[in-house]
Amino acid sequence: MNRKKLIAGNWKMNGSLQANEALVRAVVAGLPAAGEGAGANVGSGADVALCVPAPYLAQVQSLVQASALDLGAQDVSVHASGAYTGEVSAAMLREFGARYVIVGHSERRQYHGETDAQVADKAKAALAAGITPIVCVGETLAEREAGQTEAVVKRQLAAVIHVNGHCISEIVVAYEPVWAIGTGRTATPEQAQQVHAVLRAQLHAASTRDDRVRILYGGSMNAANAASLLAQPDIDGGLIGGASLKSADFLQIIAAARAAAA
Ligand code: PEP
Repeated sequence: MNRKKLIAGNWKMNGSLQANEALVRAVVAGLPAAGEGAGANVGSGADVALCVPAPYLAQVQSLVQASALDLGAQDVSVHASGAYTGEVSAAMLREFGARYVIVGHSERRQYHGETDAQVADKAKAALAAGITPIVCVGETLAEREAGQTEAVVKRQLAAVIHVNGHCISEIVVAYEPVWAIGTGRTATPEQAQQVHAVLRAQLHAASTRDDRVRILYGGSMNAANAASLLAQPDIDGGLIGGASLKSADFLQIIAAARAAAA
């Protein structure tokens, strides 16, 4: 199946009202106009989302209105409401137009102790609210060097499959080797493809509709390496951190996704 590519920017904890406005306006202005040649509408070649810090959802929601950009968040509570100070529910994200939410990013697993089971529950909470979870999996350098890459990513994804059962075809998966995030060190296209193929097979075994699930690569994807990564048969897009904060770089990655889809 030819899956539509998805390029999702993860701003992490960056931004200000002023900087966000400049960045989003530059991205919107740089997107090809609808009808500008075959596949020129970004909507026809690749989906694009911006996953922003929660306080900026309202601002970015209004900035992306009437553009082809979708809005996303970076985390969600497993709870629906109540005495959970500091948490943000999926219903709240939905009210601000979030179409996606990142769950289980390695920074949350590492710095906030999120477990596979919590990540699975977060994916469930998102799905229940009609939001697509972007489920991150990935091994550390030590795990890769110990030959555990496959076992680690399969364990992380298995937890999400176990809890979300028949809804699993509604998720997006992001393979993000921890050693490649924010380090400038990217997995080679072959290394990434190898893991994506493992994840694809795991999804296939779990669902008859697995071919709908997009598997993104994340980890220092940039304007220079995007095309070769996105050319791999099982790489359906990218989760982009640092390069999503620079409009020119982000636009080049979007262009690479559109070219790969053409
Ligand atoms: C990320 O934060 O998900 C990420 C992939 O970051 P970077 O692109 O900066 O490595």
